[in-house]
Amino acid sequence: MADATWLAQRLYRDEFLTVIEQSGLRSRRRPGSFAPAGVLMHHTGYRSSNADPFPGLSTVINGRPDLSGPLCHLLVGYNGKVRVIAAGRANHANTARASGPMPAGDGNTMYIGIEVDYAPQLGQAPSSAQVNAAMQAAAAVVTRLGRGKRYVRAHAETSTTGKWDPGGAFPAPGAFRDKVGWWINNYWRP
Ligand SMILES: [Zn+2]
Repeated sequence: MADATWLAQRLYRDEFLTVIEQSGLRSRRRPGSFAPAGVLMHHTGYRSSNADPFPGLSTVINGRPDLSGPLCHLLVGYNGKVRVIAAGRANHANTARASGPMPAGDGNTMYIGIEVDYAPQLGQAPSSAQVNAAMQAAAAVVTRLGRGKRYVRAHAETSTTGKWDPGGAFPAPGAFRDKVGWWINNYWRP
């Protein structure tokens, strides 16, 4: 067990991010191993807006009838703010295929999960603030793990069950990694 109790503090170091700590995050986890080496990007499938920037909040904390929460570590709202949901193992990745430098295996052991709260299956695009916050959060976390942009993967790249997230107008995985790489090179590199 190696809970990522550093998540909120790491994100606070990014002056461009607005961070909200969800009550109870340090003890929120699934049972089982957690040794994250990479970051996995998702969309929630909930239609968000400026008036309702985090429609997926309750679900990512509490889970669904078929899947116990927490369902991610970070939730990125339509307003570009980032909620820290859980420090320990979360149900977001299932069994992972090998992807880039990341091996195949238990995705919930290997990845920190970032859910972007929008609904591409309903035709919704993420906001630009949301995409920017997602890339900064991914850069902050993957560098804290001691790794570079190639360790940021999309769920569509690791899923063994046909997941396609983050979809719609979200940057394609390679383009997203390049944006994360910019933040690593220009902001996080010591
Ligand atoms: Zn996903």
